[in-house]
Amino acid sequence: MRRAARRDIATIINAIFDPNIDLSVLLPTLLPKAIAWAESLAVDIARHGAPLDAAEIAIAQRMGVRHAELIRVVDVDRMPAPTDAILREAASKLGMLGPGTAGLTLGYGVWVACGQRSMRLLSHEFRHVFQYEAAGGIAAFMPIYLDQVVRHGYWDAPLERDARAHETNA
Ligand SMILES: [Zn+2]
Repeated sequence: MRRAARRDIATIINAIFDPNIDLSVLLPTLLPKAIAWAESLAVDIARHGAPLDAAEIAIAQRMGVRHAELIRVVDVDRMPAPTDAILREAASKLGMLGPGTAGLTLGYGVWVACGQRSMRLLSHEFRHVFQYEAAGGIAAFMPIYLDQVVRHGYWDAPLERDARAHETNA
């Protein structure tokens, strides 16, 4: 058992740093880590984030969000990064979280990089909130979303295409 576990970890670490590996083999390992990370951040932002103003509520509702009053937004110097090294590396490798990330949505929590706040960005992130609601929460959304990102790439993931298609300036 111990040997098998150790080999699994070695496989995962090699795969993470191998540019040619198919990350889908890592999904079963990454998913529970991603869900736990997202859920703990969502709890945190629910306590400390700011609710939307009237204009933002209206945009969220246009994006299809049912409970816009639950959305919380924070402006941050740096996007929250997973503490787990494997998850952090995978997120960066998949292009999901990096220096260029302007916004991040986890459940009803929206993180916005300093200087990036705009209606266009918020509308994109609020569409992700709608997607979380439609899926039934973080634990239901993450498997669908991560599978798409691994399969299609971040840019072409259907849920990202949907969010981009709903972007609006006003
Ligand atoms: Zn997006």
